[in-house]
Amino acid sequence: MNTIKEDGLLRPDRQPLGQNTQGFWNEKRLQSEMQRVFSACHSCRRCHSLCHSFPTLFDLIDNAGSMDVEGVNPEDYWKVVDSCFLCDLCFLSKCPYVPPHEWNIDFPHLMLRAKAVRYRRDGARLRDRLLSSPDKIGRIASRPLLRQAYHYLRKSPTGRKLLHKTLGIHKQAWLPEYPARSLSQRWKTHPQPARHRETGNKVAIFATCYGNYSQPQIGEDLICILEHNDIQVKLIDDCQCCAMPRLELGDLDTVNLAMNTNIPRMAELIADGWDIVSLIPSCTLMFKQELPLMFPERTAVLQVKLAIYDPFEYLMRLYRSKQLKIDFRRGLGRIVYHVACHQRAQRAGQQTRKLLELIPDTEVTPVERCSGHDGSYAMKSEHHVNATSLCAPVARRIQQQQADAYTSDCFLAGHHISNTLANGSTPVHPISLLRRAYAI
Ligand code: SF4
Ligand code: SF4
Repeated sequence: MNTIKEDGLLRPDRQPLGQNTQGFWNEKRLQSEMQRVFSACHSCRRCHSLCHSFPTLFDLIDNAGSMDVEGVNPEDYWKVVDSCFLCDLCFLSKCPYVPPHEWNIDFPHLMLRAKAVRYRRDGARLRDRLLSSPDKIGRIASRPLLRQAYHYLRKSPTGRKLLHKTLGIHKQAWLPEYPARSLSQRWKTHPQPARHRETGNKVAIFATCYGNYSQPQIGEDLICILEHNDIQVKLIDDCQCCAMPRLELGDLDTVNLAMNTNIPRMAELIADGWDIVSLIPSCTLMFKQELPLMFPERTAVLQVKLAIYDPFEYLMRLYRSKQLKIDFRRGLGRIVYHVACHQRAQRAGQQTRKLLELIPDTEVTPVERCSGHDGSYAMKSEHHVNATSLCAPVARRIQQQQADAYTSDCFLAGHHISNTLANGSTPVHPISLLRRAYAI
C-alpha cells in the first residue's frame, strides 16, 4: 500500500527548472499543475504570512462557491503569480512537500514557469522591462545631462507624480541614485597597491549592475578590504548583467543570452586561479542556484557555481584558514543585521553576522524576515503598499533595538527598510561597516 507521508524529513532536493522539457510551455499543463499545487497549498496554509501570493490564493479559493480550486477562474491565478517575487522562502523554510517528497511541490519554480509562459506569449509592459534592465538604466542615468534629468524625476514631487502616472512607479518608493562615476570608472584610476605579499589569493569582483552604477562605494570598500588582506584584486569589466531581473520577469531567453556571455568569461578567470566575488546576493544566487537549475548539463555553469561567493562568505573562508587580518581598530556598537532572502537561499549560513561579531565592541542582532523589496516589487505602484507592510516587522525590530546602525547585504533591501522607517536614517552596507572597523 502506498502511504503519503505528511512531512518530508529528507534534505530538499531541488529539481532542474526543465525549461527545455516537453510540456513546460504548454498552457493547459501549466494550468493543471497550478490547480494541483494550489489545492495542496490551500489545505496546508503554512505559508500564509510569507508574502501576498498565499493570502491572495487562499482568499480566491475561500471565496469560490465550491471552496475548492476548481471554483476559481483560472484568469485569477495570475493574481497569485504577480504577487510572487521569487524570494524562495516558501521552498526553503516552510514547505514539507518539496522533492524528494512525492508531492514534488516547488512553488517558486511553478510561479517562474507561469511568468515565463506569459512572457513568451505577451511580453511585458514598458515599466517592467525598464525595471528589469538595471544595466541599461545605469548606463543611461550615469550620463551627465540624463543623470540630472533622472535626479529631478527621482527627487521632485512633480517628477514622482509623473513616474507614477506614466510608468506605474510608486510615489513613495525608494529609487536608486546614480553617482557621477561608476565603479568601473573609479577602478581605472584606482592606485595599484605598492606591493603584494604573496598570499596566492586572487579575487575577481563581479560588480553587478547596481553595484557598478548605483552604489560604487561598496565595491571600493571591498577592494580596500581585500588589498588590506594582501589579496590580488581585479574588477571584471567584460561581463554583463547576470539577468536575475529578467528571470524574475520570466524572460528566459535573455537569461540564456547572458549565461552564454558571462559563464565562459568567469570559467576562464577561475581556470586562471581567480575566485569570483559578487556584490549582490541575488546576483550571486543567479550563478549559484538559478543557472545550475536551468542548465545542469553545462560543466562551466557548475564550475562557476563552486567558485563564486558573496563577499562575507569569501572573507569568512579566509578567516577559517587564518588568512584574514583581524586587526580591527574600531568597534561598531549595536548593529541590526537584516538577513536577505536571496542570501538565505544560498544556504551558506550567516557569514556576515559571524564576521561582524569578530569585531570588538560590536553586538549584532539578526532579523530573518523578508524586507519586501524583492527586485523591483516595492517600486511598483500596485505592490508598494504590500511591500511596505512586509517590511514593517523588520523596521519595528530596528526601532526596538535602538541600534547604532542597520545593515543588509542586499542594499536594495537596506534602502527599502530606511524608506519604511521614514525617520531620515540610512542603512550602512556591511562591507562599509567592516572597512570602518578596520579604519582603513
Ligand atoms: S517564492 Fe517568496 S514571494 Fe514567491 S510564493 Fe514563495 S514566499 Fe511568496
Ligand atoms: S508551498 Fe508548501 S508549505 Fe507552503 S502552503 Fe504550499 S504546500 Fe504548504
